[in-house]
Amino acid sequence: MAYRQCPKRLWLQTFRPELATESPLARLAMQSGNRIGEAARRLYPDGILIDTNDLRAALEQTRAALADHPEKPLFEATFEHDGVLIRADVLVPGRNGAQLIEVKGSSSVKDYHVEDAAIQAWVVRATGLPLTSVQVAHADRNFRYAGGGDYTGLIKPQEVTRAVDSFTPQIAGWVTAARATLTGAEPGIVCGPQCRDPYECPFLKHCAATETDPTEFPIDELYRAHPKHKAALRAAGYSDIRQIPQHLLKSEKHLRIREAAITGRAYLDDVAGSQLRAAPYPRHYFDFETIAVGCPVWPDTGPHLVIPFQWSCHTETAPGVLEHREFLATGTEDPRRECAETLIAALGDEGPIYAYHAQFEALRLRELAKQIPDFADALTGIANRLSCLEKMTLASYYHPDMHGSWSLKRVLPTVAPHLDYANLAVRDGVLAQEAFLEVMEPQTGAERRSELRRHLLDYCGRDTEALVHLARFLESANAG
Ligand code: SF4
Repeated sequence: MAYRQCPKRLWLQTFRPELATESPLARLAMQSGNRIGEAARRLYPDGILIDTNDLRAALEQTRAALADHPEKPLFEATFEHDGVLIRADVLVPGRNGAQLIEVKGSSSVKDYHVEDAAIQAWVVRATGLPLTSVQVAHADRNFRYAGGGDYTGLIKPQEVTRAVDSFTPQIAGWVTAARATLTGAEPGIVCGPQCRDPYECPFLKHCAATETDPTEFPIDELYRAHPKHKAALRAAGYSDIRQIPQHLLKSEKHLRIREAAITGRAYLDDVAGSQLRAAPYPRHYFDFETIAVGCPVWPDTGPHLVIPFQWSCHTETAPGVLEHREFLATGTEDPRRECAETLIAALGDEGPIYAYHAQFEALRLRELAKQIPDFADALTGIANRLSCLEKMTLASYYHPDMHGSWSLKRVLPTVAPHLDYANLAVRDGVLAQEAFLEVMEPQTGAERRSELRRHLLDYCGRDTEALVHLARFLESANAG
């Protein structure tokens, strides 16, 4: 599968594995997949786990289990053919052959899951074991966990045998090409869409660092530009935004980015500032942190349900007078009710509420309103008071150091460099999720738990403090 993503990835993975960096997102996906895999195993209580990381031993144990217990399901059954080794998540024996079930943590079957299953089926069949069906089992979004460890219905198997069969004729060719890649020098492949499709490649940092782009403002920094537009600009010979003639850019944002790149000066108008100055007090600056796990932990939650576990709010009660309130769940039980109760108390029923990308906060509040009907009116009222600081910033501000992005992490250093995230242990939403998952783990010790909680509080608090500074900055637009 590494070869299918990019031959260079396979080469690096084989010969320079030390260059890989695992992203927190990949770690989260792996954890989620492992938990779903464990839940899947519970559905076959008499199954045998091939429980070793020694691949030779795994092959041997699989052979022995198939011979001694031909009627029992196997987990992590290991097979090898033509130098390709696979471990099947679940293999269920039957009268005319086995069912191969590949378990995925996602909530639907993706094309690359089918390719993965096809390679596995190719290997298993080549060893002489017939397969009657190949399935990809994924988390069923409609599943609601009743508690007590009962995950019946969490996994939804989907038959992919025909799709798998359609790949079969190509697989020997993939294997030959992968082997040829490994007999040669490092492939001279440059970064492109393949680096994040279907997964973020663990060599992305390495490849990006070795491809030093001499261009200071590359075409890719044109905000949300259509790939065809970028391709046409490149085809016309432009590599740096500063070279593009004005008439070739139609979007106001693109023109602003070009202008800032050429002049080195920031753009700031007073549209957002005048709105902010007219806003009444109290003004709230609000942010949620959320978690979504494939295998639900708390009753009445489902796979990949987005659950808020933390919020921070800076409230400006009068010009320059700030109060800070926050909530962080303990991690031992469903945080939704307490989270909703505390935020209703903090946000009251007056004053605008500013969030960056407020759509996200509004969605979470409306979901909570459905999930906790006795708080529905209060939560809906809060959602209706939200205003989006990201939209205001997009409308009124741009700095050349933002390099085509209006993410808060890009905007902030240009308006409040002292609020750098670099000195925080938790620096983004993915690391926050990872930290909270560790807080949730029963085996996490008290000291580590309180350290993680401190990091989480620092991070979310920094986010809303940043919003206060951003709003003040936008308000300053009329200062001349
Ligand atoms: S980062 Fe991109 S180019 Fe480099 S190995 Fe990965 S997929 Fe290939």
